[in-house]
Amino acid sequence: MTTELHLQAPSASGLVWNVLPDAEPTPDAEREAILADPGFGQHFTDHMVDICWSEKGGWHRPRVQPYGPIPLDPAAAVLHYSQEIFEGLKAYRHADGSIWTFRPDRNAARLQRSARRLALPELPAEYFLESLRQLIAVDGAWVPSAPETSLYLRPFMFAKEAFLGVRAAKKVAYYLIASPAGAYFTGGVQPVNIALSTRYARAGHGGTGAAKTGGNYASSLLPQTEAYEKGCQQVLFLDGSYIEELGGMNLVLVTDDGRLITPESESILEGITLASILQLAQDRGLTVEQRKVTIDEWREGAASGAIVGAFACGTAAVVVPIGKLIADDYEIVHEGDASAELALSLREELTGIQYGRVEDRHGWMVRLDA
Ligand SMILES: *Cc1c(COP(=O)(O)O)cnc(C)c1O
Repeated sequence: MTTELHLQAPSASGLVWNVLPDAEPTPDAEREAILADPGFGQHFTDHMVDICWSEKGGWHRPRVQPYGPIPLDPAAAVLHYSQEIFEGLKAYRHADGSIWTFRPDRNAARLQRSARRLALPELPAEYFLESLRQLIAVDGAWVPSAPETSLYLRPFMFAKEAFLGVRAAKKVAYYLIASPAGAYFTGGVQPVNIALSTRYARAGHGGTGAAKTGGNYASSLLPQTEAYEKGCQQVLFLDGSYIEELGGMNLVLVTDDGRLITPESESILEGITLASILQLAQDRGLTVEQRKVTIDEWREGAASGAIVGAFACGTAAVVVPIGKLIADDYEIVHEGDASAELALSLREELTGIQYGRVEDRHGWMVRLDA
């Protein structure tokens, strides 16, 4: 319910934001109960941001409003042709209570790259950053403070024009919602098993693999369902014989001489966690190789001892060691390998920076509540 309309002074980005506060926000005690055990993606804060775009008017009417259903015409193009993109990043509470996020410029730039590929308009980076600040200004109390918890920020954009003809929509909406997230691992980081998908691909040459778009996830759901049945949490996708990535995380192999190898491909999503982990590894003097890697190189390397482990990385889980890769007729087993130590120590350093425990020597952190 909305009772007031606050017109705020123009923000740093020059946009004038309308803030419509929720007249009945979640009571403090209820919010605290949610923050004590938030899970992932189940609870949402009291507000959301939306910014409209039209071919004629460009980006306009930025506002913060109570969280709730989005009115959508049944003919809205997104419902028919999947013209949609999204981002994912987190707000972290530091020990002094301040609220920070990690490399949001990278998310803003990636949202623009995804937009180009999906024929959506590019949201200026300063509007993106301002949307994060505006939401934190009203919903900052939703950023939990227990170790490894965060407020997951989910910006997304979709074609809302009501038109069944097939072309790029002339009316688009950008939204930002937020959801408190608990520690991904409770009781210590556990290695995961992943299934090798030889039947299904998540992306093709010239396709949308490098864009963060819902369609890539939709096509990964059937293989993921089959993987669950084999006791695997995730799927590794291939491009022919070359390894690519998991449904929503990038992959890194670790060699016995301390090199980190990650697949290079035009159809992989460029992960910000991956880039950051590789930077921290290079800072330690480790060698990083970004190149094509075949599944046979991994299999033979694991057998000979040249490849001593593997891990997956992404914003939600940060870094997850891979215990086993399960293929149709063989398994690669890394459980108990010493390389998990390297993955975990890189994880510790990265989360240390994100939570303000470790010096941010690359200037990656951006404060949101000031
Ligand atoms: C978001 C995503 C990643 C991880 O990217 P981060 O920026 O590290 O969160 C990896 N693969 C896919 C397919 C993704 O959508």
